[in-house]
Amino acid sequence: MSRFANQVAIVTGAGRGIGEAIARRFAAEGAKVAIVSRTEANSQKVADAINAEHPEAARPYAVDVADFEAVQKVGEQVLADFGRVDILVNNAGITRDTLAMRMSSDDWDAVLSTNLKGAFNFVRAVARPLVKQRSGRIINISSVSGLMGLAGQANYAASKAGLIGMTKSIAREFASRGITVNVVAPGFIETDMTAVLNEEVRKGAQAQIPQARFGAGDDIAAAVAFLASGEAAYITGQVLAVDGGMSM
Ligand code: NDP
Repeated sequence: MSRFANQVAIVTGAGRGIGEAIARRFAAEGAKVAIVSRTEANSQKVADAINAEHPEAARPYAVDVADFEAVQKVGEQVLADFGRVDILVNNAGITRDTLAMRMSSDDWDAVLSTNLKGAFNFVRAVARPLVKQRSGRIINISSVSGLMGLAGQANYAASKAGLIGMTKSIAREFASRGITVNVVAPGFIETDMTAVLNEEVRKGAQAQIPQARFGAGDDIAAAVAFLASGEAAYITGQVLAVDGGMSM
């Protein structure tokens, strides 16, 4: 399959977890992929693994997505390296879970800056080239937490619900330019982020999932690839939950 031949995708938070699965999927389907993560070692490792299977398909970029100026520079560098950008997946995200009555100002700011402002920063970095070429796909990774709210996640749920509002506004702004903007909202997925949950929390989560199991990064990658493909050309401003039925 080469649905994404001659296309360039930027995937943030691709140093591991869901972002790595998305980047591997794009590369497997013919895209060139900019692997963005916070730490150089992680983006380099994923880029090396992809290039071993698909020579010269991936390049690593290390940046804090919350840093507006640094993100604009990465956008310019990706354009210089690959010559174009077609797809942006804003996947980088963190949690700082605690009850709202105990949440620090730092916990709030860190999560909002990374999860919400980070996505805005990358939209700004690619908006001009996408508008100029009159085609493109932006996919923002939200969460069931942004749809339902989860206890202990006031900051995270706010950031993930914020992504949905931002997506709909930008989808309206870009609709006439051939650019679609959508959200994928994962439920509980097996990654480092959920590996820290204790057995009691895991069992509690599973009890809320009709399919009674956590999903895999590949489940999210399949949904992202669909929304990034030509088949999804008439879908914009939408939220696709990939959560085993949790949020229905
Ligand atoms: P992981 O913790 O496994 O990986 C997070 C990735 O984001 C890493 O590559 C990390 O970089 C990168 N990242 C974090 N902060 C920054 C930053 N400031 N700048 C640049 N990169 C950063 O997370 P998941 O794969 O589990 O989650 C991916 C996305 O999916 C997140 O947005 C998360 O909120 C969302 N999600 C996850 C769910 C789950 O159950 N796992 C459920 C619902 C949504 P590095 O590798 O360098 O540290």
